[in-house]
Amino acid sequence: MADNYLERRMEDMRNGRLQNYKTSNRPGSAPMKKGYLHIPFPPRRVLVTGGAHGIGLAIARAFLKADCKVAVFDRDMEAGEKLANEEGVRFYQVDVSDSEALQSAFDNLIKAWLDIDIIISNAGVGDFKPITECSIEDFKRVLDINLTPAFILAKLWATHRSSLPLPNPFGGRMVIVSSTRHLQSEISTEAYTASKGGLSSLTHALMMSLSEYGITVNSISPGWINVAEEPLRAEDLLHHPSRRVGEPEDIARVALFLAAPDNNFINGADIVVDGGATRRMIYPE
Ligand code: NAD
Repeated sequence: MADNYLERRMEDMRNGRLQNYKTSNRPGSAPMKKGYLHIPFPPRRVLVTGGAHGIGLAIARAFLKADCKVAVFDRDMEAGEKLANEEGVRFYQVDVSDSEALQSAFDNLIKAWLDIDIIISNAGVGDFKPITECSIEDFKRVLDINLTPAFILAKLWATHRSSLPLPNPFGGRMVIVSSTRHLQSEISTEAYTASKGGLSSLTHALMMSLSEYGITVNSISPGWINVAEEPLRAEDLLHHPSRRVGEPEDIARVALFLAAPDNNFINGADIVVDGGATRRMIYPE
């Protein structure tokens, strides 16, 4: 009989006594509070792509709580309109892989706000297929959704900034949501992993090109973030040295921190937020 809490849970799991094991029940600490970072944060105009669900939604809410104006570009009309009606977000229904639609939404937002201070390029899809079944079109589609929009938004933003008679005194912040999959892989993940590797490299290229506008560019690489609030098993938690799976708010706090006014010396960085999973050494059993 195990006398340690975690071992007891593992024993329950092995004996089929453990059905659902939620993050909020994680061992060894008080119930988790879904928190936001509280830092002095002057209101800014913030654009979040993919802000209708999951990590993007938590980021949009974090900036709203910091008294910012928030615009969301997302393809999900229903969730976006709900967000607009209930939380005061400016919502544009856009498929970010449609470059003309993306440009048109960007132009409309600039007409409304005159400029943007912070862009969070977050929209993304995972499409995992065996290499023999992943068509060239499948591969390109993932890049079109996950990678190319970050370049397009940065290009549109730089072009707009060059047209301003006076520079934006704040400069700006671009935060790109990548993934720890730019560092490690499973089988059948070529398209997604390539898109995230592209984003991680694009981050430092954009850092150079946007420097003249005072815009810093950083990426966040989330590990396993439980956006669907799925039931978790004990081993899912124990796989992470932090002994839990991530929550969208874990990423939102980092986005807010990177966007903070004094943090313009963090530039071209990639911040891994994965509960330690990527650094964990694993030997064959
Ligand atoms: P999610 O599916 O919960 O949310 C993604 C959002 O993007 C949705 O609102 C969706 O409607 C929107 N979206 C998707 N394709 C779009 C398109 N073509 N045009 C406009 N909007 C589109 O996913 P999530 O887990 O919150 O993922 C957000 C980002 O975080 C993605 O870039 C993803 O690759 C990255 N990420 C997630 C995890 C994780 O474990 N959840 C881990 C690493 C990286």
